Amino acid sequence: AMRAFEYTKDSLKDKIILVTGAGDGIGKAAALTYAGCGATVLLLGKTQSKLEAVYDEIERLGLPQAAILPMDLQTASFAQMQELARLIEKEFGHLDGVLHNAAILGALTPLEMYDPITFEQVMRVNSTAVFMLTQSLIPLLRAASSGSVIFTSSSVGSSPRAFWGAYALSKQSVEGMTVIFTQETQASTALRFNCINPGATRTNMRAHAFPGENPYTLKTPEEIMPAYVYLMSDAASGVKGQLIDCQPK
Ligand code: NDP
Repeated sequence: AMRAFEYTKDSLKDKIILVTGAGDGIGKAAALTYAGCGATVLLLGKTQSKLEAVYDEIERLGLPQAAILPMDLQTASFAQMQELARLIEKEFGHLDGVLHNAAILGALTPLEMYDPITFEQVMRVNSTAVFMLTQSLIPLLRAASSGSVIFTSSSVGSSPRAFWGAYALSKQSVEGMTVIFTQETQASTALRFNCINPGATRTNMRAHAFPGENPYTLKTPEEIMPAYVYLMSDAASGVKGQLIDCQPK
């Protein structure tokens, strides 16, 4: 179904979708694309000015007005996430989708030398905060007719590799969350949990991980958007516990 998927300006019409890390890279492309498909996008991220730039671009394009939710996932408490959920409930009553996209790379170092503080920071942003935010938002997602949660993994999430340290472990954890949440919600609702591996994509994170690489040899965030829209859309209702791999083989 995915291979043939082409989105239109109505693919996500009237949906309310939260995107984390919406200010840059793949998250920015997803926010703009979701708005282009008719969704009201809630832009969550760390750097306010980047979120404002995405908000302005959505406005300039005449798309459904977005909302900015500044939150540092490194430091945000569970209470703050629950407060955020109450705010969304008050404003919109429900939530149709969450794209967990924000992440940090941490260090590319042998585990033997990996700084424990960096380890905790990476696990917090890439895994613990993902769990806490998902748990906070589930009641709102259940209130939607067809709620969709998308986690973001990496090739090292499926196959951990030397030097990828906490990043690889955090992405393994996110793949595990996809399986566990899926099994635990199976019968009860239309709510679904899936995961995307974007594969090598032209962003700042990729450039940090592979400084010697020519970015122009890589696919752009825009090129992988069909997978991102598909899993959010009603075309994927009933699609549960899947990992869509956008890495060209
Ligand atoms: P970028 O570094 O370009 O963007 C990451 C986004 O996450 C930024 O908007 C950043 O905000 C946000 N973010 C980081 N830390 C926090 C925080 N503490 N609180 C809130 N927001 C935060 O990365 P990509 O676009 O490349 O990556 C997007 C996702 O795709 C990640 O999950 C990544 O692991 C995954 N991925 C990417 C690949 C690639 O080749 N690009 C390959 C495989 C997986 P700010 O700019 O304000 O810091």
